Amino acid sequence: MAHLTPTQRFAQYVKPMESGCHEWQSTIRRDGYGSFWFAKRQALAHRVAYVLLVGDPGELRVLHRCDNRRCVNPDHLFLGTDRDNVRDMVSKGRHWGRRKVTNEALSVIRARLSAGVSQQAIADEFGIQQTTVSRIKLGQRAYLKHNI
Ligand SMILES: [Zn+2]
Repeated sequence: MAHLTPTQRFAQYVKPMESGCHEWQSTIRRDGYGSFWFAKRQALAHRVAYVLLVGDPGELRVLHRCDNRRCVNPDHLFLGTDRDNVRDMVSKGRHWGRRKVTNEALSVIRARLSAGVSQQAIADEFGIQQTTVSRIKLGQRAYLKHNI
């Protein structure tokens, strides 16, 4: 069997539901979150989805808009702090929009580029294609969001 990229391996376990959620079909942890072997450890599946499809969340938590812990649809995920998480449980009113999240991912990638990191190394790090990194370098848009 051909070697699969992390994104291809991840996509094998994603099942789109009528609700719009993409439910995780592999290991589900006792707390209800999906689990996926990524970067040499067991990671939260929805967090991996964010890393692969949007960008590195860094220190921030990846939270669900949809309250479905098995869901790995990046459109249903947003970034926040632990404090946001608590607040989110009280009210769904405050969250960061997708546009801002995408811009954050872009700024991280641009910082890597200006630091001299190769396009292929960045592509591998984010689980995206080298041509995507090339487009980012050229200032083109609308590429990080892609279906799995
Ligand atoms: Zn969802």
